[in-house]
Amino acid sequence: MKNISRKFELEVYGKFEGANPTGSFKDRGMSVAVSVAKYLGVKVVVCASTGNTAASMAAYASRAGIKPVVILPKNSVAKGKLAQTIMHGAVLVSLNGLFDDALKVVLELAHRNIAYPLNSINPWRIEGQKTIAYEIIDELGKVDWIIVPVGNAGNITSIWKGLKELKNLGLVENLPRLVGVQASRASPLVKAFQEKSLIFEPVEEPKTIASAIRIGNPVHGLRALKVVYESNGVLIDVSDEEILWAQKVLARLEGLGVEPASATTIAGLRKLVEEGVITHGEKVVVVLTGHGLKDPEIALKHGIESYEASSVSEAVNIVSKITR
Ligand SMILES: *Cc1c(COP(=O)(O)O)cnc(C)c1O
Repeated sequence: MKNISRKFELEVYGKFEGANPTGSFKDRGMSVAVSVAKYLGVKVVVCASTGNTAASMAAYASRAGIKPVVILPKNSVAKGKLAQTIMHGAVLVSLNGLFDDALKVVLELAHRNIAYPLNSINPWRIEGQKTIAYEIIDELGKVDWIIVPVGNAGNITSIWKGLKELKNLGLVENLPRLVGVQASRASPLVKAFQEKSLIFEPVEEPKTIASAIRIGNPVHGLRALKVVYESNGVLIDVSDEEILWAQKVLARLEGLGVEPASATTIAGLRKLVEEGVITHGEKVVVVLTGHGLKDPEIALKHGIESYEASSVSEAVNIVSKITR
């Protein structure tokens, strides 16, 4: 990313996951996990989701002839993701509760053998998602930092698994340090990291505009802390204002439309450069996890310069005035 690199005096690369079939990195894990479900003869799959897992599972399961059932926390799923989930034919259960409650439903259904669970507790999801690491190292070789948004922390653990496999195979010598970014009011792991602990306290009511990481009790929280310590990495948090700033920077400096959760990476990068943790000239990859069209409402609400014109001549006048 030329302009962002210049801005931060770094070598910054974006791993853009918005071009996957349903517009997020979730497709990587879902492709593998649904293939396994089909192989096992599963008839019904289920997931809890803040949106992208549901959209991806619906698409892959329908294609495989398996019935997708999604459990969504009521009123907290971005419009684009909801539209995809419906379009791809999932049965939708809207639960009056949080993501963590939706996940409890999934665990109970799995326990009773009613449906096969496709949340990232399913190890095949992790196997698919680790390919992000393969691709980064394949294209760039040595990298100093990889920055990833953290919700349930499946992705950051997947990436570390992929990196370690490459190292064990002798395909890369020095592994990048991992940065996990959480939203300030949904950041249980950051607090644990600051105390150098492996024990984290769940956040009861997580809040952030970045709905994909609005998670209070990360499923892979312990593993995420371990991989961050092992990689000599960092966990930090960023505010909603910083996220919106970063979303605009990506959209306007690089022409990359990403959803708020993905923009946390650039907000985190700015913070770490300011703090002197990431230093000039280093090679950094930010994982841009989901497409900007996933959440059109956020974009519409924030930062547009717009005018109303009731006639052709008025529209022409407005534009000629503001471009003067
Ligand atoms: C799922 C998701 C995340 C969070 O990933 P985890 O594996 O839950 O940490 C971040 N960004 C987007 C766009 C997502 O869909």
